[in-house]
Amino acid sequence: MIDLHLHTARCGHARGNMEEYIARARQLGLVAIGFADHIPMYWLPPGQCDPELAMPQEQFGDYVREVLDWRDRCSGMSIYLGVEADFQAGYEEVLDGLIKVHPLDYVLGSIHFIDGWGFDNPALRDQYVRHDPDELYERYFILVEQAVASGLFDSMAHVDLLKKFAFRPRRPLTHLYQRLARAMARADVCVELNTAGLRVPAREMYPAVELLRACFQHGVPVTLGSDAHAPEQVGWEFGRALALLREVGYSEIAYFVGRRRCCRRLP
Ligand SMILES: [Zn+2]
Ligand SMILES: [Zn+2]
Repeated sequence: MIDLHLHTARCGHARGNMEEYIARARQLGLVAIGFADHIPMYWLPPGQCDPELAMPQEQFGDYVREVLDWRDRCSGMSIYLGVEADFQAGYEEVLDGLIKVHPLDYVLGSIHFIDGWGFDNPALRDQYVRHDPDELYERYFILVEQAVASGLFDSMAHVDLLKKFAFRPRRPLTHLYQRLARAMARADVCVELNTAGLRVPAREMYPAVELLRACFQHGVPVTLGSDAHAPEQVGWEFGRALALLREVGYSEIAYFVGRRRCCRRLP
C-alpha cells in the first residue's frame, strides 16, 4: 500500500519528523510513502501567514531538500515528494510558480477555506451555525470543481472535508457528487481516499461512499492517504480503506513520479 498524505512538524500543527514517519511506514510494510506537507500560504502577505497552519515560505526549500535526501538514503521503500496546496481562486499563477520551481512528484489539492473562513479549524467550528447547510455544501463543491478545473492538482485531498464536524446537509448530495465526479474525469484528476475522516466527528472516510462510487463509475483514479499528523497515524485504517476500494470496484491505486501518474495493483 502507498500512503501519499503525510504531514510533519514542519507544518506547525503535526508532530514528528520525517525519520519517525518513515520508521512507522517500514514497520507497517508500506511499499511507498509520500510527504505532502502544507505548502506556504501563498495567497496571503507574509505577515499574515499562520505558522501553525503551514510552513513559512522560507522553509519550503528546506522541506523539499529534506524529502529528497530521505528519498536518496532510503532503500526498500520509495519516498515521493508531494505537497498539499490550497486552491485559492485568483491566485492560480502564484501557486503554479511555487510548484514549478521544485521537482515535485505530485500536488494534492484541497479546500480548507470558504470566503476566508477556515471551516475545518476546530477553533472556528462555531461559525457553522451562521450558514444554511445546503447552500454551504453547494458553495463548497463549486470551489472544489474550480480547483479540479484549474489543472494545478494531481489528486483532490479529502474532497468532502466540509462534513468534518458532522454538519450535514438536509438534501441529498447526489447531484453535486455526480457533477464533481464528471468534472474530475474531464480534468483527469484523481480522488483521494483519505482515512482521517474516521478520526473526526464525521466518523467516515473522505469521500463519502456515494461520491467514491460516482468517481469509480466515471473512471476517476484513486490515491490513498492517511493525512497523518503524527507518526502513529501513518497507514491509518488502511485495511478498511482497501476493503472499501475493492467493494466499490477499484483494482489499483495511483501514485506519481515527477507528476506523471503511475498505477499499482491493490494487494
Ligand atoms: Zn488538508
Ligand atoms: Zn493534509
